[in-house]
Amino acid sequence: MFYVKEELKDGVEIHIEITDENVYNTCPVCGKEIAVDLTDVFSDGDADLFATSVLCGTCSKYILRKDE
Ligand SMILES: [Zn+2]
Repeated sequence: MFYVKEELKDGVEIHIEITDENVYNTCPVCGKEIAVDLTDVFSDGDADLFATSVLCGTCSKYILRKDE
């Protein structure tokens, strides 16, 4: 089980289990918050957690159309 840990204040820590339902990303094009399933992101075995951004559906459709 992976989780994030953050010290809030006065030694109080919060631990949150990372699941396929509680990870979010901000679309780098429009800024919309979108849910991200990390298993999808890492499924090709070549993803960098710090360098990877996931586009929202609208922006990814626009970019795919632009490249055609
Ligand atoms: Zn977007």
